[in-house]
Amino acid sequence: MSRPTRARIDLDALRHNLRHAKALAGTARVVAVVKANAYGHGVVPVARALVGQADAFGVACVEEAAELRESGISDPILLLEGVFAPDEIRLVDQLGLSMVVHCREQLEWVRAARPARPLNCWLKLDSGMHRLGLTPEALVPAYRALTALPQVGEVVLMTHLARADEPDQPYTSRQLALFGAVCGGLKVQRSLASSAGLLAWPDAVGDWVRPGIMLYGATPLGDGHPSAARLRPVMTLESALIAVRDLAPGEPIGYGGRFVCARPTRVGVVAAGYADGYPRHARDGTPAAVNGHLTRLIGRVSMDMLTVDLTEVPQARVGDSVELWGARVSANAVAAAADTISYQLFTGVTSRVPRVYEAIL
Ligand SMILES: *Cc1c(COP(=O)(O)O)cnc(C)c1O
Repeated sequence: MSRPTRARIDLDALRHNLRHAKALAGTARVVAVVKANAYGHGVVPVARALVGQADAFGVACVEEAAELRESGISDPILLLEGVFAPDEIRLVDQLGLSMVVHCREQLEWVRAARPARPLNCWLKLDSGMHRLGLTPEALVPAYRALTALPQVGEVVLMTHLARADEPDQPYTSRQLALFGAVCGGLKVQRSLASSAGLLAWPDAVGDWVRPGIMLYGATPLGDGHPSAARLRPVMTLESALIAVRDLAPGEPIGYGGRFVCARPTRVGVVAAGYADGYPRHARDGTPAAVNGHLTRLIGRVSMDMLTVDLTEVPQARVGDSVELWGARVSANAVAAAADTISYQLFTGVTSRVPRVYEAIL
């Protein structure tokens, strides 16, 4: 028997989540964000499953776009941070990509470029994220300069929301108002919303939405938000019990003896650890499921193993399956117990973990 740790990827759930995103988007088009190896889910199978449903794919760099093109995907692809150096525009041209233009330097690179076909540019306003984007004063002049260039094709105006995952936060309203005020007079397509914007801020839908995390079934708004019930988890990180032992009260478990048994405790050793991407900082009590029964992590996570409480799952045996996150154990709950977010859990699943693709189709 081989190591039982794997990430099962449910492509039907992925398509379900995209349909939900499209329903929320109405007539707006959808950039399915598949950067970072589709948030750890495997970019080629994920993108192939979404061809014909998504209007475009969003990636972080030319290398990620090239991987999609090499796998035969001919749909529009948007570089979410644009190019990092002027010579990359040659690849943008060759691969037929669209690119964000977020700063003066990138604008100059576009001005100097002589592509074979028009460059589609997503001009970015910094409406308050204060990471990428032109200032409100610089945006309209940049837009006019860009649209006057013969080598530029379509232009979309975009911005990114810093606090859209906080539904009661007035900061998002301020960002939306600023974007509207700056772009107000221009007849041009707009894009503002990633998953949180799409799920919680109907005014942010615009002409293009850019959902990422929600496609993978985790809501950025927390499991208490109604969107949690509408999304289906795509990744199940699972492993199996490789040892079961009974410990007496007072006995510690694992490195550092972080957990000390308060009662007679049955412990299950699971073949998954931080070298698989399970967060080392997960606290005692982090949920896990053994044979579908909810239980909890006890003891510090090791490189290749972790330990769970089987006291309330007394029938559990070596070889039984353990879900670390998925349909029963929400990735958001595991992330909260490890002081992180589901994005980091998904993107952190290492190459040691085989991805196994499932779909009814
Ligand atoms: C990553 C990214 C997204 C997707 O964000 P989610 O929170 O995963 O939906 C959208 N837009 C931009 C510019 C991004 O970089």
